[in-house]
Amino acid sequence: MRLLFASQNQHKLEEIKPLLPPRVELLSLADVQFEGDIPETSPTLAGNALQKAAYIYTKFKMPCFADDTGLEIDALGGRPGVYSARYAGLNKSADDNMEKVLKQMNGETQRKAVFKTVIALAGMEDLMFFEGIVKGTITSEKRGSNGFGYDPIFMPDGYSVTFAQMNMDEKNKLSHRANAVLKFSKWLMEHLK
Ligand code: IMP
Repeated sequence: MRLLFASQNQHKLEEIKPLLPPRVELLSLADVQFEGDIPETSPTLAGNALQKAAYIYTKFKMPCFADDTGLEIDALGGRPGVYSARYAGLNKSADDNMEKVLKQMNGETQRKAVFKTVIALAGMEDLMFFEGIVKGTITSEKRGSNGFGYDPIFMPDGYSVTFAQMNMDEKNKLSHRANAVLKFSKWLMEHLK
């Protein structure tokens, strides 16, 4: 079956592809020649994931899923959370976002955080949601250059390296998105029988 992923993020596409059942043909927005912005205005991860999946499904009438992720830091009261992408402001980079977090966490000893991903699926049966999390800590400086976003400052529990110091296979074994995608993949296998 063909499944459209409503995201412009090529990193995510590469992470997700190997986790889906082999009979799924994963299409990107580039494959369907979509180039515009997708609205993302909800105050919750699930709301944003649904908004993105529903927007693209309405345009292309093909089963479609979207994800939304937030980094929730205990000492910052759960921030950046749903505002992770634009934490340092609109048009700011991942580096700017990390700098802001590191500055706010300066001298903080309680560094627990959780990455959370919600996937919404539109166009197959009812709307479906799948959630994945990974717990960890915020490092005191950036480490590593793999991955994207906040990867250089997030160290998953049980590891002494950040996501940005892991290769994609290692990150994919434990990441928030991998956990959500594996639940989604299991559901797909049961429903594609
Ligand atoms: P999105 O809305 O799912 O694209 O993610 C929101 C923000 O979280 C973006 O700024 C991403 O850079 C960041 N983010 C999402 N997934 C990851 C990840 O796997 N590692 C690090 N940062 C991530």
